[in-house]
Amino acid sequence: MTTHTTRMLIIGSGPAGLSAAIYGARAGLQPIVVQGLQPGGQLTITTDVENYPGFRDVIQGPWLMQEMQAQAEHVGTRMLWDTITEVDLSGPPFRAVGDSGDVYEGETLVIATGAQAKWLGVPGEQELSGKGVSACATCDGFFYRGKKVVVIGGGNTAVEEALYLTNHSQDVTLIHRRDSLRSEKILQERLLAHPNIKVLWNKAVDHFVAAENGMLSGVALKDTVTGEASVEPTDGAFVAIGHAPSTDLFKGKLEVDAGGYLVVQPGTPKTAIPGVFACGDVMDHTYRQAVTAAGTGCMAALDAERFVAEREFLARG
Ligand code: FAD
Ligand code: NAP
Repeated sequence: MTTHTTRMLIIGSGPAGLSAAIYGARAGLQPIVVQGLQPGGQLTITTDVENYPGFRDVIQGPWLMQEMQAQAEHVGTRMLWDTITEVDLSGPPFRAVGDSGDVYEGETLVIATGAQAKWLGVPGEQELSGKGVSACATCDGFFYRGKKVVVIGGGNTAVEEALYLTNHSQDVTLIHRRDSLRSEKILQERLLAHPNIKVLWNKAVDHFVAAENGMLSGVALKDTVTGEASVEPTDGAFVAIGHAPSTDLFKGKLEVDAGGYLVVQPGTPKTAIPGVFACGDVMDHTYRQAVTAAGTGCMAALDAERFVAEREFLARG
C-alpha cells in the first residue's frame, strides 16, 4: 500500500478532471488525477465531436481525450490508474482510498466523477446485457454488422447512436416514448432524412425478449398513447436514455439534489466543505457538455489554488 500526497487530488479523468489538472499543474499544485474505470470519460465512447471549440473539422472523442491527457501530463500532472472506493472529507488533507489499496491525500479535492449510462430497469435488460442489450453503440455496434438494431431514447445520445449504427446496420429503428425528440435540431434532421433509420413514436419498452439460445430476439413495446402492445424483432438493442451522476462515493457526505447531482454554491464549483470542489457532469444537470465540464474544471482549479494560497498565508501568521 502506497500513500500519494498532493496539494490537489482530482477524482476523474474526463474533460472536467483533466482541465482542472491542466490549470492546477500550471499553478504549481502538482495535481494527481485518479482516472477511474473510464480513463478519458464519456467522450471515449463516442466518435464524431463537432462542437468542441478550436477544431474546424470534426474530431474524434477518444483522440480529444488523449490530447487533453497528454497536455495535463506535459504540464506536470501525475495520472494514476485506480478507482476510488472510499473518501474521508474531514480534512484537509482529504483522504481517498483506491481499489488497489493505495491511499491518496489532497490538501484540496476536486470531484470530477462525471456520469454513467442509465438503464431502463425493465425485465430482461440485465439478463440480456452483453447478449444483445448494450448501452454503448460505439463500443458494441460492430457486433451487429448486417443485423437489425434498435436504439431506445430521444436525446442527443440516442440520435447519435442511431446515426452511428448505420455504419454497421442497414436496419436501424429508434424507439421513443413521446412524439418529439429532445435532441438538437441538426441531429434530428440527419436522423429523419436517413434512409436506413425508422422511428417508432410513443412506444415504451415493456421488456426485452430472449430467444431459445438465450440471446435477445426482440423488444416488447407498449404504445404510450393507445396502450397497444407489440413486439419489435431485433438482434441488438441500445439503451440511450441518458446518464446518472456518479455520486455514490459521497452519499451522506455531500448534499445531492433530487436528481442525485452534487450541490455546489451557485455559479461556483464550491461544495459545502471548504477545499472540496465539484465540476463537470457530476454537478451539472443542465448543460452536460464537454466544453462546460472543461470550464467548470478550470473554475475548480482556480478556486483550489486560492484555497491553498489562503491557508499558506494564514499559516505564515
Ligand atoms: P466524464 O466524462 O463522465 O468523466 C468522469 C470520469 O470520472 C471518468 O474518467 C471516470 O473514470 C471517473 N470516475 C468516476 N468514478 C470514479 C471513481 N470512483 N474513482 C476514480 N475515477 C472515477 N459533449 C459534447 O460537448 N459534445 C459531444 O459531441 C458529446 N458527445 C457525447 C456522446 C456520448 C455517447 C456521451 C455519453 C456524451 C457526450 N457528450 C458530448 C457529453 C460529454 O461527454 C460530457 O458532458 C463530458 O464527458 C463530462 O465530462 P466530465 O469530466 O464531467 O465527466
Ligand atoms: P437526455 O438529454 O437526458 O435524453 C434522454 C432521453 O431518453 C430523452 O429523450 C428521454 O425521454 C429518454 N428517456 C429517459 N428515461 C427514459 C425511460 N425510462 N424510458 C424511455 N425513455 C427514456 O440524455 P442524453 O441524450 O444522454 O444527453 C445527455 C447530455 O449529454 C445532454 O446534455 C446532451 O446534450 C449531451 N450530449 C451532447 C451531445 C452532442 O453535443 N452532440 C451528444 C450526446 C450527449 P423524454 O424526451 O421523454 O424525456
